Amino acid sequence: MIENLLRPHIKDIEVYASARDEFKGSAEVYLDANENYHDFSKEGKNRYPDPHAYKLRKKIEEVMGFRSEHTVLGNGSDELIDMLIRIFCIPGKDSILIERPTYGEYRVFAGINGVSVIDIHLTEDLDLDVENIKKAIDLKKPKIVFICSPNNPTGLTYDIAKIKEIADYNKGMTVVDEAYADFDPGFTSAYTLLKDNGRIAVLRTFSKYWALAGSRIGILIGSEELIAAVNRIKAPYNISLSSQMDGLRALSEAGERKEILSEILSERKRLSGRLADFSFVRKVYKSDANFILIKVDDADGLYSYLMAKGIIVRNRSREILLDNTLRITIGSRMENDKLLEALGEKEKSLIP
Ligand SMILES: *Cc1c(COP(=O)(O)O)cnc(C)c1O
Repeated sequence: MIENLLRPHIKDIEVYASARDEFKGSAEVYLDANENYHDFSKEGKNRYPDPHAYKLRKKIEEVMGFRSEHTVLGNGSDELIDMLIRIFCIPGKDSILIERPTYGEYRVFAGINGVSVIDIHLTEDLDLDVENIKKAIDLKKPKIVFICSPNNPTGLTYDIAKIKEIADYNKGMTVVDEAYADFDPGFTSAYTLLKDNGRIAVLRTFSKYWALAGSRIGILIGSEELIAAVNRIKAPYNISLSSQMDGLRALSEAGERKEILSEILSERKRLSGRLADFSFVRKVYKSDANFILIKVDDADGLYSYLMAKGIIVRNRSREILLDNTLRITIGSRMENDKLLEALGEKEKSLIP
């Protein structure tokens, strides 16, 4: 039961009933939503989209195995992170807990909503510090614990047993952001924990493996009670018809997309090996995601050097535990070769 975790007023909100909510069947003449009867798009874009994206959620169930009654879609995971904070956290009173370094949006949306953030550092080897997290849960009672696995920007998947231990201990919500799960062949989703713990929720996205960052589709997976609560505050038409069609098309090509995955995984392996050979690269972190974190002698210098060559990576050096690190997305073979070539030139210039 999550009812006692929700902000009290959420239960009393009068839910907006859209035209598509009030009439769900199919009819010959639709004069109910003040739409324009001209369909210049020839794809039905003159009509409002399905507010619950039912077809897409059914397809998600078929391809990914998340039952449709356990899902709600957001305008990217970012919108879902925002909605989760808004339904559980009272501004100026409640808090969320995150492990640093991690994805920046949890903090940003907490800040926007006037919700404080409890920071727990990862261990030296960038793993979850379960004991410290439990202590902070006891002391501060955060409404939501966010866990990003595989974590951005470190690239590591956390042990599902540790995630379970935290989620079972935590009396609030535990939200596991699995944006990069598809890139870890041995991954176990926290969705498997939901049947025994209704306070778990999972985030997935179409922005990475499904190559639809521009379509803005995120998936929240949780108990039916959580899904109902999110649906109470969700803008009715948050996923456009174009995006729903994009998602359906991608999932209908799931079979062919598997080849792209093996391409990315083999490039990850190749790039990790090659990067380790440069004298100015001190460490190549193990990655379960579609990016590689490296520690170098002078991250600022290398970042500027690559930028001058037209190659943009992410400088993560300002993060706790990550001084002198760069995060490099796995690109196409040709893009990766350009990066390696530029680094090779740098290496040569160092030899007197
Ligand atoms: C990229 C990313 C997302 C995806 O966000 P969208 O809003 O769905 O594009 C979510 N979580 C993490 C940790 C990410 O790195």
